[in-house]
Amino acid sequence: MGYKRIKKDQLNAFLRELSKDYAVVLPSRSGGQVVFGPWDGENTDFLDWYKNTVIPPKALFFPPVEEMFRFRKGEEGYEIEELMPDKGQQIIFGIRPCDARALKIIDMLFADTYRDPYYLRRRENSLLIGLGCNEPCDTCFCASLDISPGQSEDVDILCTDTGEDLLIEAISDKGGNLLSRMSGLSDAGSEEESKARELRKSAKERITREINLSGLQERMRSNFENRAYWEKVSKKCMACGICTYVCPTCHCFDINDENRKKEGKRVRNWDSCKFPLFTRMPMENPRHEKWRRMRQRYHHKFEYYPMNFGAIACTGCGRCIRECPVNVDVTEIIGGI
Ligand code: SF4
Ligand code: SF4
Repeated sequence: MGYKRIKKDQLNAFLRELSKDYAVVLPSRSGGQVVFGPWDGENTDFLDWYKNTVIPPKALFFPPVEEMFRFRKGEEGYEIEELMPDKGQQIIFGIRPCDARALKIIDMLFADTYRDPYYLRRRENSLLIGLGCNEPCDTCFCASLDISPGQSEDVDILCTDTGEDLLIEAISDKGGNLLSRMSGLSDAGSEEESKARELRKSAKERITREINLSGLQERMRSNFENRAYWEKVSKKCMACGICTYVCPTCHCFDINDENRKKEGKRVRNWDSCKFPLFTRMPMENPRHEKWRRMRQRYHHKFEYYPMNFGAIACTGCGRCIRECPVNVDVTEIIGGI
Protein backbone atom coordinates (compact mmCIF):
# COMPACT_ATOMS: atom_id res chain seq x y z
CA MET A 1 0.00 0.00 0.00
CA GLY A 2 1.43 3.41 -0.97
CA TYR A 3 1.16 6.64 0.97
CA LYS A 4 -2.31 7.94 1.84
CA ARG A 5 -3.31 11.35 3.00
CA ILE A 6 -6.07 13.05 4.86
CA LYS A 7 -6.84 16.73 5.42
CA LYS A 8 -6.07 17.64 9.01
CA ASP A 9 -9.56 19.08 9.42
CA GLN A 10 -10.86 15.58 8.57
CA LEU A 11 -8.88 13.91 11.37
CA ASN A 12 -11.92 14.14 13.59
CA ALA A 13 -13.96 11.97 11.18
CA PHE A 14 -11.03 9.52 10.85
CA LEU A 15 -10.80 9.12 14.64
CA ARG A 16 -14.58 8.75 14.94
CA GLU A 17 -14.47 5.88 12.49
CA LEU A 18 -11.67 4.25 14.50
CA SER A 19 -13.63 4.78 17.72
CA LYS A 20 -16.34 2.38 16.51
CA ASP A 21 -13.98 -0.56 17.02
CA TYR A 22 -11.23 0.78 19.27
CA ALA A 23 -10.76 2.85 22.39
CA VAL A 24 -8.73 5.79 21.02
CA VAL A 25 -6.16 7.47 23.23
CA LEU A 26 -4.16 10.47 22.13
CA PRO A 27 -2.17 13.40 23.56
CA SER A 28 -4.28 15.49 25.91
CA ARG A 29 -3.86 17.81 28.86
CA SER A 30 -4.70 16.49 32.28
CA GLY A 31 -3.87 18.03 35.65
CA GLY A 32 -1.55 20.53 33.98
CA GLN A 33 0.46 17.79 32.24
CA VAL A 34 0.48 16.40 28.72
CA VAL A 35 -0.45 12.72 28.86
CA PHE A 36 -2.03 10.09 26.65
CA GLY A 37 -5.70 10.10 27.56
CA PRO A 38 -9.01 8.90 26.14
CA TRP A 39 -10.13 10.93 23.13
CA ASP A 40 -13.13 13.13 23.95
CA GLY A 41 -14.71 12.41 20.55
CA GLU A 42 -14.27 16.02 19.36
CA ASN A 43 -10.95 17.68 19.89
CA THR A 44 -7.93 17.29 17.64
CA ASP A 45 -6.19 20.56 18.55
CA PHE A 46 -3.19 18.64 19.97
CA LEU A 47 -1.78 18.81 16.43
CA ASP A 48 -1.12 22.52 17.14
CA TRP A 49 0.74 22.22 20.44
CA TYR A 50 1.88 18.65 21.02
CA LYS A 51 5.62 17.99 21.31
CA ASN A 52 5.59 14.92 23.53
CA THR A 53 3.85 13.75 26.67
CA VAL A 54 5.38 14.11 30.13
CA ILE A 55 4.11 10.72 31.26
CA PRO A 56 5.43 8.21 28.72
CA PRO A 57 3.18 5.72 26.92
CA LYS A 58 4.57 2.84 29.01
CA ALA A 59 1.86 3.91 31.50
CA LEU A 60 -0.81 2.63 29.09
CA PHE A 61 0.63 -0.89 29.27
CA PHE A 62 2.29 -0.90 32.68
CA PRO A 63 0.16 1.45 34.82
CA PRO A 64 1.71 3.37 37.75
CA VAL A 65 -0.62 1.46 40.10
CA GLU A 66 -2.27 -1.80 39.14
CA GLU A 67 -4.44 -4.25 41.05
CA MET A 68 -3.23 -7.70 40.01
CA PHE A 69 -5.78 -9.86 41.81
CA ARG A 70 -8.01 -9.95 44.88
CA PHE A 71 -8.06 -12.71 47.46
CA ARG A 72 -10.36 -13.89 50.20
CA LYS A 73 -9.86 -16.63 52.77
CA GLY A 74 -12.80 -19.04 52.57
CA GLU A 75 -13.70 -22.31 54.27
CA GLU A 76 -11.49 -24.31 51.91
CA GLY A 77 -8.52 -21.98 51.56
CA TYR A 78 -7.93 -18.84 49.55
CA GLU A 79 -10.20 -17.82 46.69
CA ILE A 80 -8.52 -15.75 44.00
CA GLU A 81 -10.31 -13.27 41.78
CA GLU A 82 -8.21 -12.55 38.70
CA LEU A 83 -8.09 -8.95 37.51
CA MET A 84 -6.63 -9.22 34.03
CA PRO A 85 -6.95 -6.23 31.67
CA ASP A 86 -10.07 -6.53 29.50
CA LYS A 87 -9.72 -7.72 25.93
CA GLY A 88 -10.86 -4.46 24.33
CA GLN A 89 -8.73 -3.13 21.48
CA GLN A 90 -7.09 0.27 21.76
CA ILE A 91 -5.35 2.67 19.40
CA ILE A 92 -2.57 4.91 20.61
CA PHE A 93 -2.65 7.85 18.21
CA GLY A 94 0.28 10.26 18.03
CA ILE A 95 2.99 8.18 19.67
CA ARG A 96 6.45 9.54 18.82
CA PRO A 97 9.12 7.36 17.16
CA CYS A 98 11.32 7.38 20.30
CA ASP A 99 8.43 6.16 22.46
CA ALA A 100 7.44 3.44 20.00
CA ARG A 101 11.05 2.22 20.19
CA ALA A 102 10.87 2.36 23.99
CA LEU A 103 7.96 -0.09 23.93
CA LYS A 104 9.98 -2.46 21.74
CA ILE A 105 12.78 -2.21 24.29
CA ILE A 106 10.65 -3.00 27.33
CA ASP A 107 8.81 -5.75 25.41
CA MET A 108 12.10 -7.67 25.67
CA LEU A 109 11.85 -7.66 29.43
CA PHE A 110 8.11 -8.19 29.87
CA ALA A 111 8.16 -11.08 27.36
CA ASP A 112 11.31 -12.68 28.76
CA THR A 113 11.47 -15.80 30.97
CA TYR A 114 8.81 -14.42 33.30
CA ARG A 115 6.16 -13.34 30.80
CA ASP A 116 4.03 -10.54 32.20
CA PRO A 117 0.43 -11.31 31.22
CA TYR A 118 -0.87 -7.87 32.22
CA TYR A 119 1.57 -5.93 30.07
CA LEU A 120 1.48 -8.39 27.18
CA ARG A 121 -2.30 -8.51 26.90
CA ARG A 122 -2.44 -4.73 26.59
CA ARG A 123 0.35 -4.75 24.01
CA GLU A 124 -1.34 -7.46 21.94
CA ASN A 125 -4.61 -5.53 21.97
CA SER A 126 -3.07 -2.23 20.90
CA LEU A 127 -2.28 -0.65 17.60
CA LEU A 128 0.21 2.21 17.39
CA ILE A 129 -0.37 5.13 15.04
CA GLY A 130 2.80 7.18 15.19
CA LEU A 131 3.25 10.86 14.46
CA GLY A 132 6.71 11.87 13.26
CA CYS A 133 8.39 14.86 14.92
CA ASN A 134 8.92 17.85 12.64
CA GLU A 135 10.31 20.02 15.43
CA PRO A 136 12.20 18.00 18.04
CA CYS A 137 12.89 19.59 21.44
CA ASP A 138 16.40 20.84 22.18
CA THR A 139 16.65 18.11 24.83
CA CYS A 140 16.12 15.28 22.31
CA PHE A 141 19.08 13.12 21.27
CA CYS A 142 17.26 10.17 19.66
CA ALA A 143 19.48 10.33 16.56
CA SER A 144 22.43 9.12 18.66
CA LEU A 145 20.38 6.04 19.52
CA ASP A 146 19.70 5.25 15.87
CA ILE A 147 16.16 6.64 15.97
CA SER A 148 14.95 9.02 13.33
CA PRO A 149 12.54 11.68 14.67
CA GLY A 150 10.39 11.61 11.54
CA GLN A 151 10.38 7.87 10.84
CA SER A 152 9.65 4.63 12.65
CA GLU A 153 9.58 0.92 12.01
CA ASP A 154 8.17 0.36 15.49
CA VAL A 155 4.59 1.54 14.84
CA ASP A 156 1.74 0.04 12.81
CA ILE A 157 0.94 3.24 10.94
CA LEU A 158 3.02 6.39 10.65
CA CYS A 159 1.66 9.90 10.06
CA THR A 160 3.61 12.95 8.98
CA ASP A 161 2.18 16.43 9.42
CA THR A 162 2.83 18.17 6.12
CA GLY A 163 0.94 21.37 6.92
CA GLU A 164 -2.65 21.04 5.71
CA ASP A 165 -2.50 17.25 5.46
CA LEU A 166 -1.41 14.20 7.36
CA LEU A 167 0.56 11.83 5.16
CA ILE A 168 -0.25 8.28 6.26
CA GLU A 169 1.85 5.18 5.71
CA ALA A 170 1.19 1.57 6.71
CA ILE A 171 4.24 0.12 8.48
CA SER A 172 2.97 -3.27 9.71
CA ASP A 173 0.47 -5.73 8.17
CA LYS A 174 -1.87 -4.90 11.03
CA GLY A 175 -1.63 -1.23 10.09
CA GLY A 176 -2.15 -1.97 6.38
CA ASN A 177 -5.27 -4.02 7.13
CA LEU A 178 -6.71 -1.24 9.19
CA LEU A 179 -6.02 1.44 6.57
CA SER A 180 -7.57 -0.69 3.82
CA ARG A 181 -10.87 -0.60 5.76
CA MET A 182 -10.86 3.15 6.42
CA SER A 183 -12.89 5.63 4.38
CA GLY A 184 -11.94 9.24 3.67
CA LEU A 185 -8.31 8.58 2.72
CA SER A 186 -6.92 9.67 -0.65
CA ASP A 187 -3.79 8.55 -2.41
CA ALA A 188 -0.87 10.89 -1.78
CA GLY A 189 0.94 12.37 -4.75
CA SER A 190 4.70 12.52 -5.30
CA GLU A 191 4.68 16.17 -4.18
CA GLU A 192 3.40 15.26 -0.69
CA GLU A 193 5.83 12.36 -0.44
CA SER A 194 8.78 14.58 -1.25
CA LYS A 195 7.54 17.19 1.24
CA ALA A 196 7.45 14.50 3.93
CA ARG A 197 11.00 13.41 3.03
CA GLU A 198 12.19 17.01 3.39
CA LEU A 199 10.46 17.40 6.75
CA ARG A 200 12.06 14.21 8.04
CA LYS A 201 15.50 15.28 6.87
CA SER A 202 15.18 18.70 8.44
CA ALA A 203 13.86 17.20 11.73
CA LYS A 204 16.95 15.00 11.94
CA GLU A 205 19.23 17.96 11.24
CA ARG A 206 17.63 19.94 14.06
CA ILE A 207 18.82 17.42 16.62
CA THR A 208 22.07 18.83 17.89
CA ARG A 209 22.34 17.19 21.29
CA GLU A 210 24.37 14.00 21.19
CA ILE A 211 25.50 11.20 23.41
CA ASN A 212 28.86 9.58 22.92
CA LEU A 213 28.30 5.83 22.64
CA SER A 214 31.68 4.96 21.20
CA GLY A 215 33.24 2.11 23.23
CA LEU A 216 30.74 2.95 25.94
CA GLN A 217 30.42 -0.43 27.61
CA GLU A 218 34.18 -0.71 27.97
CA ARG A 219 34.40 2.85 29.25
CA MET A 220 31.66 2.16 31.77
CA ARG A 221 33.35 -0.97 33.10
CA SER A 222 36.63 0.89 33.54
CA ASN A 223 34.84 3.74 35.31
CA PHE A 224 32.71 1.59 37.58
CA GLU A 225 34.92 1.93 40.66
CA ASN A 226 35.50 5.64 40.08
CA ARG A 227 33.67 6.76 43.19
CA ALA A 228 34.85 10.35 42.85
CA TYR A 229 33.17 10.61 39.44
CA TRP A 230 29.84 9.21 40.62
CA GLU A 231 29.88 11.35 43.75
CA LYS A 232 30.52 14.44 41.65
CA VAL A 233 27.74 13.78 39.11
CA SER A 234 25.19 12.79 41.73
CA LYS A 235 25.88 15.68 44.11
CA LYS A 236 22.90 17.84 43.10
CA CYS A 237 20.47 14.92 42.63
CA MET A 238 17.61 15.07 45.14
CA ALA A 239 16.65 11.41 44.71
CA CYS A 240 13.12 12.49 43.79
CA GLY A 241 12.74 9.68 41.23
CA ILE A 242 11.15 11.93 38.58
CA CYS A 243 13.70 10.87 35.95
CA THR A 244 12.70 7.24 36.36
CA TYR A 245 8.96 7.88 36.36
CA VAL A 246 9.03 9.94 33.17
CA CYS A 247 11.46 7.59 31.43
CA PRO A 248 9.71 5.45 28.78
CA THR A 249 12.05 2.51 29.41
CA CYS A 250 12.43 2.50 33.22
CA HIS A 251 10.35 -0.36 34.51
CA CYS A 252 11.17 -1.04 38.19
CA PHE A 253 8.17 -1.96 40.28
CA ASP A 254 7.17 -3.12 43.73
CA ILE A 255 4.42 -5.56 44.68
CA ASN A 256 2.47 -5.41 47.92
CA ASP A 257 -0.46 -7.24 49.45
CA GLU A 258 -3.00 -4.88 50.97
CA ASN A 259 -5.31 -6.84 53.20
CA ARG A 260 -7.79 -6.44 56.02
CA LYS A 261 -8.80 -9.46 58.03
CA LYS A 262 -9.59 -12.22 55.56
CA GLU A 263 -9.50 -10.39 52.26
CA GLY A 264 -7.28 -8.15 50.26
CA LYS A 265 -5.63 -7.38 46.96
CA ARG A 266 -2.20 -7.65 45.42
CA VAL A 267 -1.04 -4.33 43.96
CA ARG A 268 1.88 -3.49 41.73
CA ASN A 269 3.23 0.04 41.57
CA TRP A 270 6.10 1.86 39.90
CA ASP A 271 9.22 2.06 42.01
CA SER A 272 12.54 3.79 41.41
CA CYS A 273 16.19 2.81 41.78
CA LYS A 274 16.75 6.43 42.83
CA PHE A 275 14.99 5.82 46.16
CA PRO A 276 17.11 4.71 49.14
CA LEU A 277 14.55 2.07 50.18
CA PHE A 278 14.50 0.41 46.78
CA THR A 279 17.30 -2.05 47.61
CA ARG A 280 16.93 -2.21 51.38
CA MET A 281 17.19 -5.76 52.66
CA PRO A 282 16.93 -7.08 56.24
CA MET A 283 20.67 -6.91 56.91
CA GLU A 284 21.94 -4.17 54.63
CA ASN A 285 21.28 -1.80 51.76
CA PRO A 286 23.83 -2.23 48.96
CA ARG A 287 22.93 1.17 47.51
CA HIS A 288 22.49 3.27 50.57
CA GLU A 289 24.46 6.21 49.14
CA LYS A 290 23.06 8.38 46.37
CA TRP A 291 26.08 7.99 44.10
CA ARG A 292 25.65 4.22 44.01
CA ARG A 293 22.04 4.64 42.93
CA MET A 294 22.99 7.15 40.24
CA ARG A 295 25.63 4.73 38.97
CA GLN A 296 23.11 1.89 38.96
CA ARG A 297 20.61 3.79 36.80
CA TYR A 298 23.11 4.54 34.07
CA HIS A 299 24.86 1.18 34.18
CA HIS A 300 21.52 -0.59 33.95
CA LYS A 301 20.51 1.38 30.85
CA PHE A 302 23.81 1.48 29.03
CA GLU A 303 25.63 -1.66 30.16
CA TYR A 304 23.43 -4.33 31.79
CA TYR A 305 20.40 -4.03 29.50
CA PRO A 306 22.57 -4.32 26.37
CA MET A 307 24.27 -7.35 27.95
CA ASN A 308 20.93 -9.00 28.68
CA PHE A 309 18.90 -7.99 25.65
CA GLY A 310 21.26 -6.47 23.08
CA ALA A 311 19.61 -3.04 23.28
CA ILE A 312 20.42 0.18 25.13
CA ALA A 313 17.52 1.07 27.43
CA CYS A 314 17.48 4.73 26.46
CA THR A 315 15.85 6.28 23.40
CA GLY A 316 17.13 9.84 23.73
CA CYS A 317 13.60 11.15 24.36
CA GLY A 318 15.10 13.79 26.64
CA ARG A 319 12.32 13.62 29.26
CA CYS A 320 14.72 13.06 32.16
CA ILE A 321 16.63 16.19 31.11
CA ARG A 322 13.46 18.29 30.73
CA GLU A 323 11.83 17.19 33.95
CA CYS A 324 14.74 16.93 36.40
CA PRO A 325 14.31 19.78 38.89
CA VAL A 326 18.08 20.25 39.23
CA ASN A 327 19.12 19.77 35.57
CA VAL A 328 20.88 16.43 35.77
CA ASP A 329 21.70 15.59 32.15
CA VAL A 330 22.22 12.02 30.96
CA THR A 331 24.26 13.17 27.94
CA GLU A 332 26.74 14.96 30.20
CA ILE A 333 27.02 12.01 32.57
CA ILE A 334 27.59 9.44 29.83
CA GLY A 335 29.79 11.90 27.91
CA GLY A 336 32.02 12.34 30.96
CA ILE A 337 32.80 8.64 31.34
S1 SF4 B 1 14.95 13.77 38.44
FE1 SF4 B 1 16.97 14.69 38.83
S2 SF4 B 1 16.94 15.13 41.05
FE2 SF4 B 1 15.27 13.67 40.67
S3 SF4 B 1 16.19 11.63 41.02
FE3 SF4 B 1 16.38 12.07 38.83
S4 SF4 B 1 18.43 12.98 38.60
FE4 SF4 B 1 17.91 13.10 40.79
S1 SF4 C 1 17.11 7.90 30.17
FE1 SF4 C 1 16.20 9.94 29.78
S2 SF4 C 1 16.52 10.30 27.58
FE2 SF4 C 1 16.87 8.10 27.94
S3 SF4 C 1 14.86 7.14 27.51
FE3 SF4 C 1 14.94 7.58 29.74
S4 SF4 C 1 13.97 9.61 29.97
FE4 SF4 C 1 14.48 9.34 27.78
